[in-house]
Formats: sequence, structure tokens, C-alpha cells
Amino acid sequence: MIKSLLFPTACAICDKGSRTLCSDCYEALKNRNLKISKSENSSLKYLIYFVDYDLMYKKLIHKGKYCLNKEVWRIIGHLISDKLDIKSNSIITYVPLHWMRYCKRGFNQSKLIAERIGKTISLIRRVKNNSSFTMLSASERIAKSCELFEVRNKDLSNVYTCYIIDDVVTTRATLEACSSLVKQKYPHIEVIGISFAKTPKHSEFMVV
Ligand SMILES: [Zn+2]
Repeated sequence: MIKSLLFPTACAICDKGSRTLCSDCYEALKNRNLKISKSENSSLKYLIYFVDYDLMYKKLIHKGKYCLNKEVWRIIGHLISDKLDIKSNSIITYVPLHWMRYCKRGFNQSKLIAERIGKTISLIRRVKNNSSFTMLSASERIAKSCELFEVRNKDLSNVYTCYIIDDVVTTRATLEACSSLVKQKYPHIEVIGISFAKTPKHSEFMVV
């Protein structure tokens, strides 16, 4: 009772009910199909995503990210997992947060999604915190983003596919940087991105 007074919960999309997602909004999400987008100049084989990053889903993501509601990410991970056929000889990893941001938030939302999809490994390490790359071109942004991450040494000789989870894809520079670093270290592996939401306007992916 006291908890609900201090932390009132209502559906993150429609503000009704008393759950993180009401049954109507949950069902509406459940009935959506995953989408695939491809880009010719991408190190990703393709990106699988669930929804366009519009106002309705911004509210949901805000609740998960800034109201620190972990349940949002578990639900999203579950919804994606239900629709996805994970290839054999594959690994699932995620875009890491810088440790300072991780300490502040207490969790990495991309990791929470990944853990619902399957057994997750920590393959990528963030060595620097985000900088603002808004003045840079798309290729410069990817090059600069590569400086933020390192890929760990692992025996992945039997692995053919690496899924990288990123909660939201906007400019795609972060996911693209992680993918290209994984491919540099493990050229025999194909990388597939998985995201809950993708910004349609600023994306350079072609929706197919
Ligand atoms: Zn709702």
C-alpha cells in the first residue's frame, strides 16, 4: 500500500490500470510482428526490431529507463523472445553501459532484454563514456563510437552468429560500432542487431 502510494504504477502506454503494461497494451504489442531492416554499408547482417520509436513507445521506454522500471525491459525481452528463432551456434550479447551510468541506473536495459531472449555473454566492454557526436557525419559517428568499446577475447570458434541487443536504435552508430568491432576480432561471425525500437526518421536502414 505504502509502496503504491510512493511509486504509483499505471500502464506505461495508456496510463490506465495498475500494472506496468495493461492487458490491452500488452496484447497489442504481442500481436505485432518483428521487422527487419537492412543497409548495404552495414557490418550488421540486418537489424531486427519491434516498433518504430514514436510517442507511444517513448513513454514506455522513458518509464523503463528514467523511472527505473526493470519490469518494462523484462516484458519487452519476453515479447521479442516469443517471436524470435535464434540460430544454432550463436551467442547473445548486448551494448554495454559505461560503469558510471550503470552505477547510476543500477541495471543495463539491453542486458535485461538479452537475458529474456537466451543465455547472454558479456562480449563487449565500454571503455569510455558517451560523447556528443551530433556535429559529425554518419561515418564519423561510427568511427568515434568504435573508440568507446572493446571486444573481449573468447574462444568463439564454434560460433557463427552473434546477436547484439540495443534497447533503442536512433542513429545506429553505437550498434554499428559494436558490430564492426566484433567482426574485426571474429571475422567468421555474422552479426545481427536486435532492438525494441528504431527511429524511422534518422535511420539509414532500408525497411524491407
Ligand atoms: Zn495500457
